[in-house]
Amino acid sequence: MFNSLRKEINQMVNRSLDRSLRIAVTGLSRSGKTAFITSLINQLLHIDQRENNHLPLFEGARNLSIIAVKRMPQADLSIPRFDYEANLGDLSAQPPRWPQSTRGVSETRLAIRYQRNNGLFSYIKEKGTLYLDIFDYPGEWLLDLPLLEMDYQQWSQDLHHLSVGIRAELAQAWLAKLSKIDLKAEANEDILAQLAKEYTAYLRACKQQGMHFIQPGRFVLPGELEGAPALQFFPLIHLAPQQWKKLKAEAGAKSYFAVLNQRYSYYRHKIVKGFYQNYFVNFDRQVILADCLTPLNHSAQAFLDMQEGLRRLFKNFHYGKRHLLNRLFSPRIDRLLFIASKADHITSDQLPNLISLMRQLVQEGGRHAAFEGIKTEYGAIAAIRATRQVLVSEQGMQFKAIQGARSGDRQQITLYPGTVPNKLPDSDFWRENKFEFEQFEPQPLLPGEPIPHLRMDAVLQFLLGDKLN
Ligand code: GDP
Repeated sequence: MFNSLRKEINQMVNRSLDRSLRIAVTGLSRSGKTAFITSLINQLLHIDQRENNHLPLFEGARNLSIIAVKRMPQADLSIPRFDYEANLGDLSAQPPRWPQSTRGVSETRLAIRYQRNNGLFSYIKEKGTLYLDIFDYPGEWLLDLPLLEMDYQQWSQDLHHLSVGIRAELAQAWLAKLSKIDLKAEANEDILAQLAKEYTAYLRACKQQGMHFIQPGRFVLPGELEGAPALQFFPLIHLAPQQWKKLKAEAGAKSYFAVLNQRYSYYRHKIVKGFYQNYFVNFDRQVILADCLTPLNHSAQAFLDMQEGLRRLFKNFHYGKRHLLNRLFSPRIDRLLFIASKADHITSDQLPNLISLMRQLVQEGGRHAAFEGIKTEYGAIAAIRATRQVLVSEQGMQFKAIQGARSGDRQQITLYPGTVPNKLPDSDFWRENKFEFEQFEPQPLLPGEPIPHLRMDAVLQFLLGDKLN
């Protein structure tokens, strides 16, 4: 009798303890989202009830209160599944290779069964399940938020200001074709498609030069909209204010000008707004990854461009009461984690500098001290650690260096990657410093072992710690 009552109470308590948490992961392309989610799932799946040496900073793993972690069918069937198996397959291949990067949204669900530590009654063995939904989406999509406040002319003029230096050079071919179009003439679908394709090629070329401020964000990562007319428009950056005025007064309903206006408007209202409405507002916690090291390899303009891209991306989270995002959608994110990724490219003594650089990028030199009402943290991690740190002796002195298989020829190399600037680099800095952050191939995975990482346990503690008590 007492036993069955206890069982019943147990079940009741367990049911009430089940909860779910939606964590979104974003970052510009190649910032390390795929690597991050693959590693996060892998670290959790390797938790076991005897010991968890791979996650010393994650309380639930260290004190063995997590009983089991399982993959589950995802909640939203319309969203593509995050392909964990394929990614793990890539890392386990001989030789191992990096998994395929994020191209659109994807989702995955885990169930974490855990023992409660501070339960109601000590004699009831309280267990709970945390359903964890992990949602991956390109950061480029967040660059489109300002479009909600700009009409076609304002947007075009905004981009006109950015078209200088390398960007202006790369835009030349597309602009030459665009200037030949009579915007008052009847629109030809094929020509629009072709020009949009060339505009997209220009955006891709910018990316290749290490520049990340890309608008519209969907053009480079269209997801399911590949080839759709909704993405076949472009900014009219060559027009002067007088020409806009004239076109608005004179262009007919079937003209290029009218069709471009309609498509821009559709993109804003249906695609950009749709993303925030359907997905963004449902996230509980957000991880934002940034690769702050690779742009240091390129140029001052590439770095400034990344800074601009990130500034616009971060703006999505600086939401105070009057912020556009809050006014339109009231998001519910309560924790925000900014991560400088690929920290295995530098020696451990440089980690504080990397975190400090990241902080400065996020806070624009301290102007936004905090994200209103959101618990925020900054970290540097390697989701998939491809290097080892070693000590090298030279002329009686010892240096920290890193060792790994160089990208391409897979030759084992040892190098001292240099000093990471701890604040936003100025022009003197670019004259005096030269960076060569090599790319590395992933290390072979040992059978049954988790993916080697750096500080993924601290990440798990911040994201999940309070939910597993
Ligand atoms: P995504 O576009 O944001 O999904 O980026 P990925 O996760 O695909 O990462 C892009 C590339 O960055 C990978 O192919 C790797 O070359 C590199 N990378 C990502 N994470 C790490 C890491 O933790 N360590 C190292 N060394 N390289 C990484």
